[in-house]
Amino acid sequence: MKPVVAIIGRPNAGKSTLFNKLVGRKEAIVFAEPGVTRDLNYADVEEGGKAFVLVDTGGFPARADDSVLKQVRERTRLAIEDSDVIILLMDGRAGPTYEDSVLVEMLRGVKKPVIYAVNKVDTKRQEEGFMEFYSLGISNLLPVSAETGMGLDDLTDVVLSKIPAWERAEEGEGGEEREEREERI
Ligand code: GDP
Ligand code: MG
Repeated sequence: MKPVVAIIGRPNAGKSTLFNKLVGRKEAIVFAEPGVTRDLNYADVEEGGKAFVLVDTGGFPARADDSVLKQVRERTRLAIEDSDVIILLMDGRAGPTYEDSVLVEMLRGVKKPVIYAVNKVDTKRQEEGFMEFYSLGISNLLPVSAETGMGLDDLTDVVLSKIPAWERAEEGEGGEEREEREERI
């Protein structure tokens, strides 16, 4: 089973744009309106000799009567359960929001690796706005621009570093290695 990397965050943070950029193909539908991407939610990504499944959580169908916060919380809860690595993407143009703080709180204490990224940091000037996100109480924040590609190499490196080494092994290889080691002991 390939590790699952989920992009979570509130509508309009740029999840689908990031998803498309990381997948390298324009497969998911990206709309300026929040919450409209429904088409493609999953993609296989191969990078640096590792493979993972990338999930754009904005693609899950939403119940019309649920509030945005309720929907984002529910998707985050599912992502925490079903993913191996979580990317919380925030909107650097909007600044830290109440929803962001709720999501950060939900992710606190989660045993899985969580990567905190601030999107839409397109220019040097916007890096100042990025600093505001430290008020959420997170120590490791990555500035990225899904649109220009800025910071995405760093983000990819961090994602790959969080994928356990045994996931990299071809089927069977890991098991054989383990057996060998046990024999030696
Ligand atoms: P989602 O709702 O989280 O999936 O967000 P989308 O990917 O649909 O993006 C929402 C809006 O933000 C769209 O108008 C995108 O063009 C815009 N956007 C996404 N990434 C960036 C970025 O890096 N910089 C800027 N300036 N806009 C972005
Ligand atoms: Mg989307």
